[in-house]
Amino acid sequence: ALTAGIVGLPNVGKSTLFNAITQAGAESANYPFCTIDPNVGIVEVPDYRLGKLTELVKPKKTIPTAFEFTDIAGIVKGASKGEGLGNQFLSHIRQVDAICHVVRCFEDENITHVSGSVDPISDIETINLELILADLETVIKRMQRVEKMARQKDKEAVAEFDVLTKLKDAFEEEKPARSLSFTDDQEKLVKGLHLLTSKPILYVANVGEDELLDADTNPNVIKVREFAENEKAEVIVISAKVESEIAELDGEEKEMFLEELGIAESGLDQLIKATYHLLGLATYFTAGEQEVRAWTFVKGIKAPQAAGIIHTDFERGFIRAETVSYDHLVDAGSMAGAKEKGNVRLEGKDYLVKDGDVMHFRFNV
Ligand code: GDP
Repeated sequence: ALTAGIVGLPNVGKSTLFNAITQAGAESANYPFCTIDPNVGIVEVPDYRLGKLTELVKPKKTIPTAFEFTDIAGIVKGASKGEGLGNQFLSHIRQVDAICHVVRCFEDENITHVSGSVDPISDIETINLELILADLETVIKRMQRVEKMARQKDKEAVAEFDVLTKLKDAFEEEKPARSLSFTDDQEKLVKGLHLLTSKPILYVANVGEDELLDADTNPNVIKVREFAENEKAEVIVISAKVESEIAELDGEEKEMFLEELGIAESGLDQLIKATYHLLGLATYFTAGEQEVRAWTFVKGIKAPQAAGIIHTDFERGFIRAETVSYDHLVDAGSMAGAKEKGNVRLEGKDYLVKDGDVMHFRFNV
């Protein structure tokens, strides 16, 4: 399963946010594929479509889909120099598929800032620099291996050397790999390097509990947004402190509290959704009388692989997938209605699954 790592300098509100994640906690019994690890928090993906489908089908139970956040502690200056903890930090980042970088935007004189004052850009650059330096080392090592072949005009080696040079130049200017553009062929080479700075990133601006409503005019948030834009990265604004309070409430209480605060969606829900997209994930549904359920898939997979997410037998014996889009189903009001309108398709093994597909798999055992 794909996972996103939460990183941040000390005292930015990372643990507060991670605690909110684990407290809001999904019932892990529903998600046996998830890791049981104190540093991993399972979150359910909020999706209004699931509620609608439940109203329509009236199943015995409804199960949202889920994914994992990993708490990556211990960034220190000099991590890339390979000192114990720092090394561990980098190897943890290597294992995640996307990065959520928590940045302190709240002012609070009682809470010390590691570098003396609240400066979100300097914070971001401190962590990014460690990642860039680690990537620079990766690229230099690789250059040493292909250099000889490139000098002998080996075509592939020359192409790779060009890509490595472009990366090295960027790293020396302290720019991450994700800020560069490559052709499809070059992109493949870059992928093979497993660079830390080519992982998709989301900046999480942590503002004070009384700053949520005017976040758009908050100078710290504005700085983070400008920085992220240059990197083609996204930003969300949350208050970790508020999230930790929300996490203790249940459904109705939570809605009342959000209304009081004047916000439509909790920061955690925004974080979950943004990260889901960052990871390239999408959702299809199964909707039977027993159970209406959302399933996560990586965009670009075909129907048999989607079936395999439910059970490997479904993939092995895949015949066809009865498929209707969520919109068509809700429009028609029932499966029978959607069939009448000709909106239920029988899709074969080459069908590319789309976000919002409601699927019923037919398979041989
Ligand atoms: P970490 O070191 O990044 O994990 O930071 P923590 O989550 O432990 O937070 C450090 C301190 O900042 C704690 O005392 C938190 O209560 C406090 N904190 C976190 N978020 C906020 C916030 O939005 N406003 C204020 N005033 N304090 C916060």
